[in-house]
Amino acid sequence: MDFSLSEEHLAVKEAARDFAQHELLPGIIERDDHQLFPSDQVKMMGELGFMGMMVDPQYNGSGMDTISYVIALEEISKIDAAAAVIMSVNNSLVCWGLEEYGSEDIKNNYLKKLASGESLGAFCLSEPEAGSDATAIKTKALDQGDHFLLNGVKNWITNGGTASVYLVIAQSNPEKGYKGINAFVVEKQWEGVQIGPKENKLGIRSSDTHSIMFHDVKIPKANLIGQEGSGFKIAMNILNGGRIGIAAQALGIAAGAYELSLRYSTERKAFGKPISEHQAIQFKLADMATAIEASRLMCYHAAYRKDQNLSFAKESAMAKLLSSQTAMDVTAEAIQIHGGYGYVKEYHVERMLRDAKITQIYEGTSEIQRLVIAREILKSM
Ligand SMILES: Cc1cc2nc3c(=O)[nH]c(=O)nc-3n(C[C@H](O)[C@H](O)[C@H](O)COP(=O)(O)OP(=O)(O)OC[C@H]3O[C@@H](n4cnc5c(N)ncnc54)[C@H](O)[C@@H]3O)c2cc1C
Repeated sequence: MDFSLSEEHLAVKEAARDFAQHELLPGIIERDDHQLFPSDQVKMMGELGFMGMMVDPQYNGSGMDTISYVIALEEISKIDAAAAVIMSVNNSLVCWGLEEYGSEDIKNNYLKKLASGESLGAFCLSEPEAGSDATAIKTKALDQGDHFLLNGVKNWITNGGTASVYLVIAQSNPEKGYKGINAFVVEKQWEGVQIGPKENKLGIRSSDTHSIMFHDVKIPKANLIGQEGSGFKIAMNILNGGRIGIAAQALGIAAGAYELSLRYSTERKAFGKPISEHQAIQFKLADMATAIEASRLMCYHAAYRKDQNLSFAKESAMAKLLSSQTAMDVTAEAIQIHGGYGYVKEYHVERMLRDAKITQIYEGTSEIQRLVIAREILKSM
């Protein structure tokens, strides 16, 4: 067992940290306040190879492993969790899905642009009445002979307004239940695609979240991903991988809040000494550091198993469950360590607490992660 990071991993860490400090930190409070999408920064992430990190270089990706992806997301999330989710959706929910299940034409027509950052992707599964229970989706893509006809509404779509390519999960044969579900590539510019208003969110405010309406959208047959009827399985597998990204996002939020708290605790004085010399504060720092280290190991382990082509559904769910709880606990303690200063925007930790909450909700709530973990544990009995 080797816990050391390779030269390549260390280089990714340094590049992501440098980018986050110099390009994401400036203007972050304003972007959060006004829900401003970080367009310039997303373009730069494409140029740095962060938008298609695990994609094969033949499709314009960086050809890196999942551990590199976790490392980059942690560093970016330490500063800007909204930029991290934009990156994470493009990498793990769209690029990975297209590379794993898409035809050669789909890879050439869509994946190449998504992996290089030339275009941005969104993953459209959730609906107004179907979130945790994805089998209940009502959006229909009915077979019309030479095309599928798409009708329905998708909800809470990250990158919804900025993406030009959507990976859409829709029902083609309701009588077959989840075995009637298909996955498609849909372009935003096609007739009948309509973007709903931007959601006004608690956290990750500079990422754009929209509902998307489809009215009689014609999808060419060639834009079906994978075998007919395999859309539900594809979506669930994509989410298994995606959870590693969200776990890394949560880890980064926690680690960012911890780093700020550690520094602050050595600078702020109370009762004649830095607060870091009060044992109550030391215990907080110790608990934060321990939970972060445990979360990081679980993220790396899930990523390692994915890279080794071993099963990773249980490990990615565990990593997300633990890291998202760590993000909530650590950011709340970070505010406590900062006292009154933690409660205002200039010190960043209040934003981190708001950003942390979503990691317990999207790509499967914490309750759903427990269901996944329990199912995997019982499978092995
Ligand atoms: C900011 C944001 C971005 C998002 N981005 C995307 C995106 O890009 N693409 C996309 O497709 N979706 C996206 N989502 C949707 C997200 O994945 C869902 O909100 C999430 O899966 C939960 O679904 P729901 O909101 O319908 O809650 P529900 O499924 O209605 O759940 C409500 C509550 O009931 C609990 N619950 C439900 N079923 C069970 C059960 N069997 N056992 C125990 N408890 C249960 C849940 O855990 C939750 O606490 C996003 C959501 C948000 C808020």
